[in-house]
Amino acid sequence: MRKFFGRLNNIFFKVFGAISGLTIFFALLLGIVFIRLYTRASQRSRQEQLCHVSEQLATRLGDTFQFGEYEEVLEFLQIFNSFESAELWLVNDSSNIGVEGELPGINMEIPTNQEEFLSVIEATYRGEQVSDVFYSEIHMATAIVVGTPVRGENNRIVGVLVSIETLGDLDDAISGIGRMIFVSSVLALLVSGLIAFMFARRITEPVRQMRLMTRDMMEGNYKLKTDIKRRDEIGEMARSIDMLSDKLLENEEERKNMEQMRLEFFANVSHELRTPITVVRAYAESLVDGVVTTKEEQEDYYARILRECSNMERLVGDLLTLSKMQNPNFRIDKELVSLTQVLEDAVGGVAAIAAEKGIMISPSGQFDEPCMVMGDYGRLRQMFMVVFDNALKFSPQGATIHVNVKCSGGGVEVTIRDEGVGIAPEELPNIFEKFYKSRLLENEKGSGLGLAIAKYICEKHNGTIRVESEVGKGTAFTFVFGKVDNTDVKTEAK
Ligand code: ADP
Repeated sequence: MRKFFGRLNNIFFKVFGAISGLTIFFALLLGIVFIRLYTRASQRSRQEQLCHVSEQLATRLGDTFQFGEYEEVLEFLQIFNSFESAELWLVNDSSNIGVEGELPGINMEIPTNQEEFLSVIEATYRGEQVSDVFYSEIHMATAIVVGTPVRGENNRIVGVLVSIETLGDLDDAISGIGRMIFVSSVLALLVSGLIAFMFARRITEPVRQMRLMTRDMMEGNYKLKTDIKRRDEIGEMARSIDMLSDKLLENEEERKNMEQMRLEFFANVSHELRTPITVVRAYAESLVDGVVTTKEEQEDYYARILRECSNMERLVGDLLTLSKMQNPNFRIDKELVSLTQVLEDAVGGVAAIAAEKGIMISPSGQFDEPCMVMGDYGRLRQMFMVVFDNALKFSPQGATIHVNVKCSGGGVEVTIRDEGVGIAPEELPNIFEKFYKSRLLENEKGSGLGLAIAKYICEKHNGTIRVESEVGKGTAFTFVFGKVDNTDVKTEAK
């Protein structure tokens, strides 16, 4: 039972119900209006006709009573009798009608005492033609009843001519119309069933397809497409589902990549940490086991242990910075800073190493101007230090590092160019990846995290970083920062 009602709740039955309900409603409405109009119009015309004929007949009857012109009245009666459903009564107050015997086709007495008839007769005696429509008990049908006064000498009313026309044929016509409405309603039901079926199919088929597809999507299959090409709302919905499955597929692939990257990251971190730990352990064991005996050797071992520890410290520090930067909620505390001052500070930080290698750092462009940006002084310094460190690391003795600053109304551009080993074109896309590092001897202590951190810092400042390099000639890193927005300055000042 519940299943049956469940089926009734589906789209086909809903559409079918709506269409057939509407059709039947309109069929009934039209039928009723039509029957009413038809009945009223045909009643009125019959009534008028009956009044007219009765009037003439009454005049002739009056003349007959006065002047005895029977032929004429008989002729009239014959015409009147040709109306199938009409009947005549001639009623008088017995003494004054002046007619003897019977007139053919006329009932000379009132064959009923139904009140409506009596009141028509009574009203007619007042002098005017009276007509009414009511149910006649003796005819057992609705009838038009017209009472017409028959006038004798001196225009005196000598009787009343009652003309009756039953409307049985009208009832027949009405029930015919009713049958017609019934038949057309049944036909309309069949047609609406057919239309509802086709319409519901047009809706349910794509809906079914979409339902199957979403079920597949729930099970993790995002490769299917609905293949529905329609221009209506269903088509739009299908397109949205297709787009959703594309998006989910993309996300799934991204998730897999992320997972892969995460695993690689852990493997790299473990590897990077294991090497110095192994080294430290080996040195420490040698010291504990008393393998190293001389004081110089022992000091050298201690110094190596210390170096490895600071390497590890740096690595862990870099990892912490990276994990902070990768967090989408991480926000940099920005203030108005002079980028050239940051650069000068960074140059100062690497000055000792530069001097050691006999490398000159040469500024050019608008290095003397403040070139303001909104940013975090410490982070920006860290970012430039990474690039200077690399430039020094990969440059030969006595080379020059060129630092060029351009600042215009549009923003600040800083280029740090070295004359070092350069980077092969196939390596260029990878240098900003975490743990990507060269195997060169100069890079023995590199972790491959520096440029990844520098890139994050730059992006957190809404800046861009790009690299150009030629093997054997050198490498140039260019940073571009947008101009300081006044609204930024105001919000920071609050
Ligand atoms: P690290 O310097 O610790 O290896 P980075 O992320 O800073 O890590 O750099 C990644 C790699 O990019 C380096 O190992 C090196 O191969 C390349 N690279 C970066 N800067 C330079 C440069 N100035 N000259 C040549 N190669 C560079």
